[in-house]
Parts: sequence; C-alpha cells; structure tokens
Amino acid sequence: MYAKVIVEITAKAVDKMFTYQIPSNMISKIKIGSRVKVPFGYQKLEGFVIEITNQLEEDYELKKIEELVDETPILNEEMLYLGNLIADKILCSRISIYQAMLPKALKASNKTNIHKKMNNYLILDWSKDDLSNYLKICRYEGQKKVLENFLEKKELLITRQDSSIKTILKKGICHLETRESYRYHYETDKIDKKVILNEEQQKAVSKVLSSLNQEKIFLLYGVTGAGKTEVYMNIIKGVIEQGKTAIMLVPEISLTPQIVERFILRFGQDVAILHSGLSDGEKYDEYRKIKNGEVHIVVGARSAVFAPLKNIGIIIIDEEHSSTYKQDNHPRYHARDVAILRGKYHHAPIVLGSATPSLESMARAQKKVYELLTLTKRAGNGQLPKVYITNMKEEVKKGHFIFSELLFKKIEEKLAKKEQIILLLNRRGYSSVSSCGDCGEVIKCPNCDISLTYHKTSNMLRCHYCGYAKVKVEECPKCHSHNMKDFGIGTQKLEEELHRYFKEARIVRMDMDTTSKKGTHQKIIDDFGKEKYDILVGTQMIAKGLDFPKVSLVGVMNADASLNIPDFRSSERTFQLLCQVSGRAGRGEISGEVVIQTYNNNHYSIILAKEQNYLAFYQEEMKIRKQLNYSPYYYIILIRISTKDYELSFQEAKKVGDYLRKNLNPNTYILGPAMANIFRVDNVYYQQCIIKYKKDEELKKVLLNLDAHYKGNSKVSLEIDIDPSRL
Ligand code: ADP
Ligand code: ZN
Ligand code: ZN
Repeated sequence: MYAKVIVEITAKAVDKMFTYQIPSNMISKIKIGSRVKVPFGYQKLEGFVIEITNQLEEDYELKKIEELVDETPILNEEMLYLGNLIADKILCSRISIYQAMLPKALKASNKTNIHKKMNNYLILDWSKDDLSNYLKICRYEGQKKVLENFLEKKELLITRQDSSIKTILKKGICHLETRESYRYHYETDKIDKKVILNEEQQKAVSKVLSSLNQEKIFLLYGVTGAGKTEVYMNIIKGVIEQGKTAIMLVPEISLTPQIVERFILRFGQDVAILHSGLSDGEKYDEYRKIKNGEVHIVVGARSAVFAPLKNIGIIIIDEEHSSTYKQDNHPRYHARDVAILRGKYHHAPIVLGSATPSLESMARAQKKVYELLTLTKRAGNGQLPKVYITNMKEEVKKGHFIFSELLFKKIEEKLAKKEQIILLLNRRGYSSVSSCGDCGEVIKCPNCDISLTYHKTSNMLRCHYCGYAKVKVEECPKCHSHNMKDFGIGTQKLEEELHRYFKEARIVRMDMDTTSKKGTHQKIIDDFGKEKYDILVGTQMIAKGLDFPKVSLVGVMNADASLNIPDFRSSERTFQLLCQVSGRAGRGEISGEVVIQTYNNNHYSIILAKEQNYLAFYQEEMKIRKQLNYSPYYYIILIRISTKDYELSFQEAKKVGDYLRKNLNPNTYILGPAMANIFRVDNVYYQQCIIKYKKDEELKKVLLNLDAHYKGNSKVSLEIDIDPSRL
C-alpha cells in the first residue's frame, strides 16, 4: 500500500503530493487525513495523507512512512475537500490551508508540547450510611479530612495520592478514575436576560428557520442595538432543536467578550469558544470538544469557520463587513467565502449580519443574490444617539487642540451626572511624531519609511511596523539642538490630558499597550462595566461589540485618521467606524450623545454617519465606485512585489506590470506598478500592481505563471492577494 502525502515545508510552499510506502504494521492504522512523519531529503517532516492507493503510476523505489503521529485522522473528508477548493480559489498551497484549519497542537511539524490534560478523581463506592458509620470510628485525621468531602459529593478531584488516600482506596471505600479535563472555563455570576422578540426580529428568525437545508444566503441589516444578536441566538436555538449544529463568527472575538458571555449564558456547556485570547492548550481542548461532537455551537473569530462540526445547520457571521474576516497573511482566505463553501457542502443557509454591511454584500442583496432581512429600529427602549460634528479647523484657531469646546463641555456634564464616557483615538503611544523644533528633522525608523511614536511610560520611541525601539532622543541628530518636540496625540497623552483637566475622573486606557497580557482586556471591560471607571480611552479596539448601559457619551477624537488612508475603502471604513462607535452610546435607559471631531466636516461619510443613514451612504459610495471602476463593480487583485534591493524592486515591478499588460484581456485595468503606501518596512521594499477585472479568461493562467516564476526566485517575492481588504 502507498500513501500520497503533502508535507509542511517551511521554505516556499510546495503544492505537491509525495508518495510513500506504508509499512505493513501501519496499514490498518493509516487513514486518509492522518498526520504522518516522513523522510524528505535529509530531513524528517510531517504532513497529511491525502490519498491511499495500492497502485503506483511508475515503478520505483519508495521511502517508507516513518511514523503515524496520532491515533485518529486529523483532517476529515470535508476539510480535505474544502482545502482543495480554497487553494484553487486563492492560489495558495493546500498544506498552508490545512494548517490554517487546525489549532497549533494539531498542525504538521508543530513545536508546541501540548497534551491532553488528565485529572484524577476519587469516586465513592460505599453508601452514605456506611461512610458515616466509618467516620465515627475512624481515628486517622488525614483519612477523615478526605472522606468528609464525600458527605457532600460523590466524586472528588485530587491532585496527589498521599498515604491516607492509598489506604482509603485499599479499603474499597472509593476507586480512582482518570479523566480528560478541558482547560477553558468561563465564570460568570450573571443571569440570562429573557427577551421577547419584536415583530421584525421574529420575522427574520422564521425566514431563516424556514430555509434550513437550503443553500441560501441572508443579509441581516439592522442598526446597532436593533437586536441582531438576539436574532442569531434564536436562529441557533431552532437549529439545535433539529439536532444540527451552528457556527457563530464574530470579529476578533477577544474584542467582544460580552458576546461570549451572552452565548454561554444562553446555551451553557453546549458552546465551544475559539479565540485569540485563549492559550494554545485551551484552544486545543475547545477544538477537541468540537471534534468529539460534545458541543453543538461554536462561537469564534475568523478561523472558527473551519471548526470541525458535523451536520452544520447554520453559519452566522456577525459584523460581516469587518476586515478581520480576511486573513492578511498567507493563506489569504476570507471567512465569508469559506462559510459559503461549507454552506453548500452541508446544504445550510448562511446569515451575514451588520449595521453597516459591506458594499459588496448589500449590492448582492439588491440584486437578490442574497435575501435581505431588515431590522429598522432599536430593540427595547434604546434610542439612537444624537450626534454632533465639531469642525477642528475652527477649534484649533481658538486654541482647542485636543478637545473641542463641545466635547469638553459634554465630558464635564456627563461626569457631573455620574454617567460613563468612551473616547476613541486611533493611535496608541504618546505622540505620533518626534521632531526638532529648530531644523524640523523628524525621527524616523531606520528600517521603515515611518516616523517613530513616542511612548512616555517607557520613555521609548517605537516603530509600530517593525518593532524597532530606542530611548527617546533629546538631541537633534541633524543640528544637535536640544529642542525636540512632540506632535500629534496618542492614547497615552489623551489619558494624561484628561487627568489634567478632570482631576476627579477615574480613567482607564485600552490599547495594544495595556492589553498585551492575557486577561487584561477582559478585566478592563469588566471593571468599566462595573462602573469602576468614568472614562474609557482607547483605540479601534473599543469600537466594536461593547454594550454598556451607562455610557451616554462617545467622543471620536480624530475622525480623519481613517479617512486619510489612501485606499478605495477609506470612506466606507470611516463610515462603518463612526456608526459603530456611535452605537456604543445610549444602549440602556439613558439617551446617548456622540461628538465627532474632524477637519473634514463636509465629507459625506462623516455627515451620513452623523445621520446613521446607511442607505444614503451606500448609494453615494456606489456611484463613486462605479466611476472609478472599483469593487463591487470590478473584482480587485493586488500583486505585491517585495525585495531587499531598492533598484531591483523597480525593475521587477516593471517586468510584472509589462507581463500583465501584455497577457491580460484589454478590458482589464492594470494600475501600476507603483510604490506601496509604505514603501519600505523592515528594510524590505514593496511595489504593487492592482488588477481590476470583470471577466478575464486569461487571468488564472497569468497569475499561476507569475506565482510559479517567483517561487524559484530567492531575491524577489511576489504575493497575490485576491479581493484584498487593504491596498
Ligand atoms: P445588536 O446585536 O443588533 O447590536 P443586540 O442583540 O445586542 O443588538 O441588542 C441590543 C440590546 O437590546 C441588548 O441589550 C438586548 O438584550 C436588547 N434586546 C434585543 N432584542 C430585544 C427585544 N425584543 N426586547 C427587549 N430588548 C431586546
Ligand atoms: Zn534639528
Ligand atoms: Zn520600523
């Protein structure tokens, strides 16, 4: 017997199967999907068995499989099938997509040392009466201490076996059992809210439940707080009642612990959680719960779309517009596309939900490719907040550099009323630029085309792209003056300014710097929820999913940050962000207010976000996309060329551009080559070409040729990003 194996090679991914002989003692054990260790050149590598055959195409001497790594196959039939489809669609190697499907502990060639965690239990065999009688006569304190626990429960978790326990076991009072234990537990003392769905919610739930077993895609569009999560939970309840399973995706779930809590409150032990806040061991355990069929529901971030549930009845993607669903390194898959493929495989519908759907999804809903479900108003008593825009051009003239007059007044007002405030500023650190007051020299990263950010707590200048750091510069490296100044404001400085002006206020900051340790993110949210703080300051991290009833003011310190990014989606992103943060205010009984500070107070995405008018924004933005031939009117592909050699980056980019122009359809647009937005990162130079096409028969062949050509090139890399989330 022979096995065709794809192996994990750390160098350039080789998308090829290699044939090995199966040693006779492994024939009955090795299955399709098994993880195996094989000799490969001079190395030993791990890989997955993709095919088993007893015939060889050619007659030649084969190496033998060296070892079967696990008792049961790691990849099932559906995963193998999906891997093929996805690899073909996004032009990646199959091994890279299989690896992406698995938790660290199960990947091929993983270096972690994660095992099942086993616990020992004592199980009581005697009756309670016999035990009580024995306790009366027993004179050994050690034994008594253990046995008294049995009066309350029938099994005891033990961490070691001392002599008392050995005696008890010998007497036959109880016996020992070793069981696998799962590491992750979610503790909460809250109770689940009983909610009666309103008419719109009910309608959405019934529509979806009446389409189970169909390959349908729904777009659930409802303003923030419209009760989408309630709709999801009711759909899932209906799906489980039919004995099927459900996947619920949320963007980067560690950002939204409240969602996890709502699902656990509602469905208890029937939920597995997969998110980046878990340790590798916890992820491994949650994964096995799913694989062993112990749960019906999986709640997780992007990669949870691969959760090995059987008999899937529904896949729901909340905040479907979020760019976190697209993996931004290899393999560049989009969770939405994977969900749709799995929906087809299981004959299950997909629900995409959002208050600000991506233009692509709404366009498909308008064309009836997706079925649109709408929730028009906030559920419960919550009102949409009142939104103010302040023009920072005018404010700066009055000397208000950080807080506009209105925002300052509102902060005072809410603090006096003991209500809570969230302030969003999309830059961590203290100041964005450190530059010389005399000659204007800016301190830049030596490896990147980016100025360094000052972090006051550590007194360091840091590069947010490559991680380079050095102690703050006091002397200008160019003119040697000692007049270094900080410009721009980051979350650290905002926090400091707040302390200066609002001495009594209790302030907490949430950004990558304050949440790097495990559990800190959750703690900040819990504490803010318990009203231990008055003001939460943070980066984009705080924009999503948080639901605090006492928040009555949200301030956006600088709405222009996302608007100024040179990307065709920057208006859409800004609109989404502003709607989302605005949605944080007024979620409970008290009404909410939002202040947006901007230098672009006439920009349509800001004006329409103020009105929370998604449909008007959609129409406006669609016009622009049509004019400029961007998605959803055209499909977009980004080709990125990178090399450490400056000259070569221009030469190769030109070659790629010429090749594309020569070989693609004349109706296809090719932009570039041009230098990427940030041309140099960590001493690598980036150039790019953008392809915009509707239909191009040559495309696939051309891309495959390019890919193959550069795979063998050790100096220049070429990456193909199909449907990129960022340019
Ligand atoms: P979304 O996911 O659309 O932002 P949620 O499902 O989180 O909205 O609902 C917002 C708030 O309204 C939550 O506190 C939720 O419990 C509550 N809610 C949802 N549906 C109802 C309803 N039908 N009646 C009363 N309260 C509701
Ligand atoms: Zn200087
Ligand atoms: Zn750098």
